[in-house]
Amino acid sequence: MRKKKGPFIHMHRLHLFFVFIIDTIFPQSCIGCSVNRFLLCPQCGNALPLANPSPHPNIVSVFDYQNKIIRKSIWKFKYKNARGFASYFGKRLYEEIIGNLGEELSVSKKEPFLIVPIPLHKKRLRERGYNQSELLVQEIIKNDRDNLFKYSPYALIRTRETKPQARTEKRATRLENLRGAFEAKEDLVYGKNIILIDDVTTSGATLQEARKALRVKGAKSIQSYTIAH
Ligand SMILES: [Zn+2]
Repeated sequence: MRKKKGPFIHMHRLHLFFVFIIDTIFPQSCIGCSVNRFLLCPQCGNALPLANPSPHPNIVSVFDYQNKIIRKSIWKFKYKNARGFASYFGKRLYEEIIGNLGEELSVSKKEPFLIVPIPLHKKRLRERGYNQSELLVQEIIKNDRDNLFKYSPYALIRTRETKPQARTEKRATRLENLRGAFEAKEDLVYGKNIILIDDVTTSGATLQEARKALRVKGAKSIQSYTIAH
């Protein structure tokens, strides 16, 4: 007797059809060398220059933000709906965190580190449709097969809308602009080891302000990671 094709098969075909259509309308090509089917091909990814150690204590970045390909891909990732970059950057962040934690990893086996994205203000989230830092955290969690980290999307909220930071602004002005922009949830962060994730840091002002908010509510330790600086 011939098996009937269930609805699953049809759904699968429908899915493949849509993938085909999306690929046709928006063909992916590598941001570095234009080879097809990658947002960032393995070769260009491996050639990206790594960041120098950050001048800010407790902030670790993976890549050098001076690099053109890095700049362009982060810009697309943040503002142009190129959410696919999250899988590559999230994996690299995961590897960086694991490499840096070293002995602390045994601590996190007993109690997972809370991994917290820098939040967007809800107005900006509505405009943009997604928070790039949240996508990074979701990818880190996907890579975390040992359950060393716990995703905590509500540990930190952005209470105030802040002006986009201009590159030319002085550090003092940036800090002023961000003062009191974040609030942490005490019941979620008190006594916890926290890993903060953001896409880019330049002056370190955003991460510093987020740290303050977490510290005030009793976070035990706070480390920050970004794709680039
Ligand atoms: Zn390439």
